[in-house]
Amino acid sequence: MLGASEDRSSLLIRNARVFTSDDARPWAGAVAVEGERISWVGDDADALEHLGAGSEAIDAHGAAVFPGFVDAHTHVRLGSNPGAVQLSGAATLGDLHGRLAAFAAGLPEDAWIEGEGWNYGAVPGGAPTADMLPVEVTGPRPAFLFSYDVHTVWLNREAMTRLGVTPRMNELPWGRPELDSETGEPTGWVHDFAVRGISEDGQRALAQHLRGFSPDATYARLLPSLDMAARFGITTVVEPQNGLDDLELFVRAREEGTLRSRLIAAIFCEPGTTAQRLDAIEDARRTYDDDRFRVSPIKLYIDDVIEPHTAAMLEPYANRPDVRGDTFWEPREFEAFLIELERRGFQSFTHATGDRGIRTVLDAVQRCREANGPGDRRHQIVHVECVHPDDLGRFSMLGAVACMQPRHCAPDIVAEWRENVGPERSRYAWPFRSLSEQGAVLAFSSDWNVAEMDPMWWLYTAVTRAAPDGTGAWNLEERVDLATAVRAATIGSAFANFAEHDRGSIVPGKYADLVVLSRDPFGMRDAREILETHVTHTIVGGRVVHRAEA
Ligand SMILES: [Zn+2]
Repeated sequence: MLGASEDRSSLLIRNARVFTSDDARPWAGAVAVEGERISWVGDDADALEHLGAGSEAIDAHGAAVFPGFVDAHTHVRLGSNPGAVQLSGAATLGDLHGRLAAFAAGLPEDAWIEGEGWNYGAVPGGAPTADMLPVEVTGPRPAFLFSYDVHTVWLNREAMTRLGVTPRMNELPWGRPELDSETGEPTGWVHDFAVRGISEDGQRALAQHLRGFSPDATYARLLPSLDMAARFGITTVVEPQNGLDDLELFVRAREEGTLRSRLIAAIFCEPGTTAQRLDAIEDARRTYDDDRFRVSPIKLYIDDVIEPHTAAMLEPYANRPDVRGDTFWEPREFEAFLIELERRGFQSFTHATGDRGIRTVLDAVQRCREANGPGDRRHQIVHVECVHPDDLGRFSMLGAVACMQPRHCAPDIVAEWRENVGPERSRYAWPFRSLSEQGAVLAFSSDWNVAEMDPMWWLYTAVTRAAPDGTGAWNLEERVDLATAVRAATIGSAFANFAEHDRGSIVPGKYADLVVLSRDPFGMRDAREILETHVTHTIVGGRVVHRAEA
């Protein structure tokens, strides 16, 4: 809710445990704001001298104040589809059927069943088929169901008919259908949605059939995500995967006042991207280039994900000795593309989960240095899940940023991951601490809607590597302390986005992007209390954009 006080240009937050993310002065007791910017940081005893006439004072009651969170990777545009059946948490095929049947019963017979969030572990063999979605469950309706990571889609027979998925067809504008190796029949499982489905062609093709992909529906699913960002203290959102068509959504959100956080939109490119398309992206970058909404990095995929054995590994998967995954780009072609991006002044933002995927990106960044000379490029490698120990030190050496999502390593989520990778390589699974100790910049993020958006989950998991109930902690060597985690979620993510000069820490002169918390996570005996902490005030550019109800 926005109240009258929102129009005041001056604010004082006092009686606080201010963690600044600024090494020169990590702690303070109060912060004053003039207009959009922080004007003073100091001791609580001196705070009232900085209370101007007519300025609002917020008493934090001894709770923490942090810099606003910079969520370096959050799919606010995908958000969650309010018209979809939620399948997350269903543990078996029977559970999935139960939810689908109950949802389908409320739909007309020709309506699509749109679903999201199913887990590979709930499907026999981790490989869904159309036959697993019989008419007894769906009726005559077509079903289009996203996996929890939004990388694959599961279709029933009616959906394959309507979407034109036919035998021996191995390309769709929005994905790659799996074919039965003997008959050439499509199985109902479609891979590579993440690389194709979010392209302009993919979105247009799906919008012809599914309501969830129309521009109005896409805008409708963006809004709850933007609200959540403000509520969770995320003052800068990095939307990692957009087509040029999607930018209108953010323009509309800004005009309608629903974009309360700052937003950076990465633009997706695939192998074969033409010079003309890069020209068009450069135009968009010139058009949208301010501190509220900026078009910036180029989103690429070097590999896929570990659970369905589609991340690129140096050695075969532990439980599939015949498979080691593949890269989407031929490494030479990837290098050449990165060199061209640098020449055009673009930063890359590359999804890489497997150790070979990660190494391929690092090698390409190294080739860029040889080709284009030294420079502050900050190429981001996103996810960084299974790292070869020889590559840990290369991040800092090459100036590459590790954009990571701590919640993805939680033991309640990674059962298939750990089975596929095996114990030996798991030692450097999500190696927060090793990377940090070897000088890499960590940029933390949520990967909403694959995982929870709330930064309390990132902080909790980074410091515990445990499940939400505190159990199952693994790879304890790779935990980080809370200060490191908060810095990764604020100044680290700001640095990753070339925004550290005016965001990411609480320093006079920077934007007043701040959060007031309900408690002080640094003073907790049990880390699980972090998950019970919430944001009471989110401040963006000196304005309170979210205030928790008392
Ligand atoms: Zn993602």
